[in-house]
Amino acid sequence: MSESSMYHLVCRDCSKEQLVESASTAKQQAVDHEAITGHRLDFKQVA
Ligand SMILES: [Zn+2]
Repeated sequence: MSESSMYHLVCRDCSKEQLVESASTAKQQAVDHEAITGHRLDFKQVA
């Protein structure tokens, strides 16, 4: 299973946006941001 894809992470509740290199990183960033701010993030594979 390759993790070479990029994931685009976007917050629904503020202007936070980030490109990350693995699903696990994307998920961790979303969890961290939600823990700090209570915001919800969406992430999708972009490549
Ligand atoms: Zn946010």
